[in-house]
Amino acid sequence: MFWYLVKSGLLPKEHIFYEEVKAFCSRALSCFSPVSQAFSQDFPAFTSWLQSNQFLHGKGATHFFNGIGGHGQGHLGDVNMSPAEWIQSHNFAGLSPRTISAMNSTLHLTSGVRIDDVCQMFFSLQGTSAISLKRQGVVGYLIATASDAMAIKPGLQFSPQVNGIIGLSDPPVMLPEKVRELLAKLDTETSIYLQTCKLNTQALEVHLTSMDDRVSRPVAVFYGGSRGGWQVVQELHKSLSVIDVCEACLLEKRIDECSYRCQDCWSSNSLCENCLQAGFKEWHPAARPCSVCHEKKQVCSRLLQLSWCSDCEARQKAFMERLFNLFPDTFQFPMPDPPHNFKSVRSSVFWYWLFLDERLINVRIILAVLFAHETRGSNAYSTRVRN
Ligand SMILES: [Zn+2]
Ligand SMILES: [Zn+2]
Ligand SMILES: [Zn+2]
Repeated sequence: MFWYLVKSGLLPKEHIFYEEVKAFCSRALSCFSPVSQAFSQDFPAFTSWLQSNQFLHGKGATHFFNGIGGHGQGHLGDVNMSPAEWIQSHNFAGLSPRTISAMNSTLHLTSGVRIDDVCQMFFSLQGTSAISLKRQGVVGYLIATASDAMAIKPGLQFSPQVNGIIGLSDPPVMLPEKVRELLAKLDTETSIYLQTCKLNTQALEVHLTSMDDRVSRPVAVFYGGSRGGWQVVQELHKSLSVIDVCEACLLEKRIDECSYRCQDCWSSNSLCENCLQAGFKEWHPAARPCSVCHEKKQVCSRLLQLSWCSDCEARQKAFMERLFNLFPDTFQFPMPDPPHNFKSVRSSVFWYWLFLDERLINVRIILAVLFAHETRGSNAYSTRVRN
């Protein structure tokens, strides 16, 4: 049956079940032919399943999936087993919880765009047939940028990753020297210092998604509070401009040199004399390679941010209204995202409907009317209505 499923193509070789069977058989026979160490490359679908499983259900789930294995027999316990021993001690062929944890991407503890994650986005996009704009010397992947802020509990916490205390907006990481300095001070001085510090109360995550929804990943996080006007959002918009930098310039750390726009071409809506001589074929910044790639005669791979989704928070809305004035050459179309739009339309008036005698009745309105007319306040009568 397995042979039939594979041969007929019903069970594709990229399917997790095929990968698992292959992994199991090769591991069980590893004493005869050594298995390659590139597990995640050999079994990509299965590896991502293992990662999700551990993320959702914890390390115990991974142990349960693998079976007892070579537990307690040292690092090479698994490798030295005979096929019979291996099969007897394993449920499935998997990875150890520690290996799965080590594959997790690093934590985002401080504000900013993670260049590594943007580069990873290119890697994922190139592996799919994601929608892209192809012109001579340039491939522009069409993507949507989405940002959403969530409230986080204000607090201070030691982080071994950055070897400091995190939780404040400024400084983002309190280094051991500063802690020692505070310890030497009087308690009152320390408490005055801490009272003037601003704690992070919000984390704003930025997600990039290809227009066909095939690839999506977070690339940036910004910690802060809910204070500030549209200028705060403008700062954010500026720091996100690194997403427009092409892959080659990101990898070579030539972020400031990556530019697409020629002022002359832009103002005349046609190729200017200089660009024509330099060999450019398009005037529009979205359709031409960056100056660095053009000079090197290499294909410029870039992300074209066509829209920007966000919750329609007051300061974001204020910035959205100014976006085209502040950045006339942006291709980004600001879009209040649908779930948040529904949330802002919804109000108390739309809650608590009752269907009585073929009439739709809003309990809230009845209550409001009741409270307005009930001079005796919230007594037994209104309690009865509420119930
Ligand atoms: Zn570039
Ligand atoms: Zn030009
Ligand atoms: Zn480029």
